[in-house]
Amino acid sequence: QANAQLESKVARRTRALTETNARLRKEVAERQQAEQTLRAAQDELVQAAKLAVLGQLAAGITHELAQPLGAMRTLSGNAVAFMKRGDLDTVEKNLGIIARLADQMGRIITPLKTFARKSPAIPAATDLAHAVSAALFLLDPRLAKAGVTVINRCEAGRDIAWCDQNRLEQVLINLIRNAADAMADAPVRELLIEAGPDDAGGLALRIADSGCGLPDPAAGRLFEPFFTTKPAGEGLGLGLAISRDIVREFGGELSADNRPEGGARFTLHLPAAPKDAP
Ligand code: ADP
Repeated sequence: QANAQLESKVARRTRALTETNARLRKEVAERQQAEQTLRAAQDELVQAAKLAVLGQLAAGITHELAQPLGAMRTLSGNAVAFMKRGDLDTVEKNLGIIARLADQMGRIITPLKTFARKSPAIPAATDLAHAVSAALFLLDPRLAKAGVTVINRCEAGRDIAWCDQNRLEQVLINLIRNAADAMADAPVRELLIEAGPDDAGGLALRIADSGCGLPDPAAGRLFEPFFTTKPAGEGLGLGLAISRDIVREFGGELSADNRPEGGARFTLHLPAAPKDAP
């Protein structure tokens, strides 16, 4: 009888355990599904923020493209006139200039295309100086218009991080645009960018400005989504939240402080690329 009792107890217990096990499996599957959905939503958000930046850059870029385009129109009109006069040397010269202008327009458009591409974040050996120049290139019209002097101390081939260049550019564009906004009313408008090894064996990239500095009470909330001190329509308050997410995804960190001499400074800590990385 004792044996029978024991067996039925074991059977009951086994059933209970099997049920628990099935429930846990279901929960794990649901969790994995939720994580996938979250990641997809984050990717969409990163892409949406990128397109918003592109929208804001559009005015400056159309201006950059309008100049060579206008010159090409004039040169081709002249070429027809010179051709009718039989002055083929000038025609050839004009065509040469047109080709160079087309190349120049291509150089403006290519980084834009790369930046706009929706690509998954794939870490690779990334030269910090390259990412910085690509971001500066896209923001060049805006910085020039705002009268910002850029001091870029990054050196190509020196600081190689392990991250995704496209996403890193997005972070840099956010930080540099914020710096330009913060310096709008400053008497001195200086943007300082430097990179080098950090204390933890990784790399640090610093973006410092001579603007108004971080708003004191805001310091703790800076990276919260939708925190902005900008007027409605100018800031969504997502730039820093998304930037920190991107940097953390690479195993890095993004922090901010005020410089003793005034202005804000953002520091990106990134893992260094392994020595044998291609
Ligand atoms: P947004 O630019 O849309 O406001 P962000 O998340 O990029 O959103 O920035 C949040 C806030 O952080 C800004 O509104 C501003 O108050 C502050 N901030 C960011 N960068 C700087 C900076 N370089 N100097 C001063 N304040 C800054």
